[in-house]
Amino acid sequence: MKNYSKLYYNGRWHAPDAGAVIEVVNPATEGIVGSVPAGTAADVDQAAAAARTALPGWSATSPKVRAGYMTQIHEELVARGPELAELITTELGMPIKLSQRIQAGLPAVVLETYVKLLEEFSFSERIGNSLVLKEPIGVVAAITPWNYPLHQLMIKVAAALAAGCTIVAKPSELTPLNAFVLAEIVDSSGLPPGVFNLVSGYGADVGEALAGHPGVDMVSFTGSTAVGKRIMALGAETVKRVALELGGKSATILLDDADVETAVKVTISNCFLNSGQTCNAHTRMLVPQHRYEEVVDLVRLHAAAYIPENPLNTQTRIGPLVSAAQRERVLEYIRSGIADGAELLLGGVEAPEGLPLGYYVQPTVFGRVTKEMKIAREEIFGPVLAMMTYDDEDEAVGIANDSIYGLAGGVWSADVDRAERVARKLQTGQVDINGGRFNPLAPFGGYKQSGNGRELGRYGLEEYLQTKSLQF
Ligand code: NAD
Repeated sequence: MKNYSKLYYNGRWHAPDAGAVIEVVNPATEGIVGSVPAGTAADVDQAAAAARTALPGWSATSPKVRAGYMTQIHEELVARGPELAELITTELGMPIKLSQRIQAGLPAVVLETYVKLLEEFSFSERIGNSLVLKEPIGVVAAITPWNYPLHQLMIKVAAALAAGCTIVAKPSELTPLNAFVLAEIVDSSGLPPGVFNLVSGYGADVGEALAGHPGVDMVSFTGSTAVGKRIMALGAETVKRVALELGGKSATILLDDADVETAVKVTISNCFLNSGQTCNAHTRMLVPQHRYEEVVDLVRLHAAAYIPENPLNTQTRIGPLVSAAQRERVLEYIRSGIADGAELLLGGVEAPEGLPLGYYVQPTVFGRVTKEMKIAREEIFGPVLAMMTYDDEDEAVGIANDSIYGLAGGVWSADVDRAERVARKLQTGQVDINGGRFNPLAPFGGYKQSGNGRELGRYGLEEYLQTKSLQF
């Protein structure tokens, strides 16, 4: 049991304004594994004031000094990696092997990239008779979701710290425990008081208070498109900078000359990663009409290897969904796919066998999905793959772009130049060519309603900077 009864701000742990707590449920057992305070607007006031007070000192430090503190945090993050992986698996349900690499490992990698970036990044440049300065934007509210909780928080915290900003973090109420471990790590690193602050709570209370707070200069939000719109509206009152990383409905296009076996294997692993609860998951597979049957056989074969099991087993490839509500939402989409006449190739609405407890669903694949079906248009956020067919390249690009979202995508072809030509036509922030792997230095973010920010690497750092010109 991990019960946290205090919030972290101004370099100390404080009793919350009210006594309400949020219980954290293990989605594999449905048992309670910990609790955190349900913060209030009054707690946000305290944390935002601490961040404001710390800002002049922190923003005046040299990049080298900031990198020094970040290195301390990095060391402790690595040391506590195994504990964090297990904790996040317990909160979220991601298989432990993947949690070790992604949920606990990736945040440390990201933090390290920012330490290195500080060695070379120039916070000023000369343009003609001007000296252009890049200054920290100020107090940043980081509001994050539950699916990659520490990674999403660290992307924001690392870039904001590197920029010289101070932070108030609000993790998701579903998976908040790992953020408290981060606060412990920050506390032991000796980071000056008020630079990093943590207020847990619900979106309607803590999230809204942060998004509308006059003492917050920027909100960096990762989460659903619906809440992103609300945050933008709340931020408009004080003309905050609002950076949004929102939902997706990404398509991967198998061109007619693709190595379909590899394409199928990689797409299924991508689509089912974290039980499909991944914003940039490739959830629509676009297949040339004349290769459809061949691809269906491969999909059946490879998708059947994903059998839901206890996520703490090291062999498990797919765990439960995060909550009962999320499971119901996903089942509703599976029902709608069946009702709309899509071909159910694998999975379905019945609970997986042998798992009486836990929010499990069967990994599900639909064939012959058409573009007007709900399962082709809406973000499901579960292990559900929609296969669609096309006749020519232009039609494939048209289907891929026929979405309110534009976060990610994929193109597969034996001819890399051809794949690049198609990738350039996709209206998305990222495209993986022939399974190109994740690059923690490449800008990550969405086109259209997938958001307006870019995270990671140099582009991520620039989000937290504002620009001043001095003329001589
Ligand atoms: P969510 O939008 O419900 O919640 C995200 C965060 O916002 C949580 O901390 C929540 O408490 C808070 N929140 C909720 N209502 C709020 C309000 N009115 N004001 C302020 N804050 C509020 O999203 P979720 O269910 O936690 O996460 C799933 C969604 O996140 C999916 O749509 C997914 O695609 C998206 N996502 C996007 C990315 C990306 O980088 N683009 C990454 C991961 C997840």
